[in-house]
Amino acid sequence: MADKTSTSNPVTHVGVIEGCIICGLCEDTCPQVFCVRDESAVVRQSAEKFYESHVEQIVQAAKECPVDVIKVRRAV
Ligand code: SF4
Repeated sequence: MADKTSTSNPVTHVGVIEGCIICGLCEDTCPQVFCVRDESAVVRQSAEKFYESHVEQIVQAAKECPVDVIKVRRAV
């Protein structure tokens, strides 16, 4: 399994599961990928094209989410 904090393994999937408290941190950290809506943060439809260039920000957003609902899948 890829190290959640490493920035060398490419991101292959990003998702926000149930439980988002709409704090806005993820969008502040990586607005290219995350967008806060009325009921939950979501992953933007166009996010995939930023997975390679924004690994660090995506990993940071997942790490900083106060309720740990951002799930990032990494290639091994
Ligand atoms: S950081 Fe977590 S709790 Fe905050 S808006 Fe993003 S997904 Fe929701």
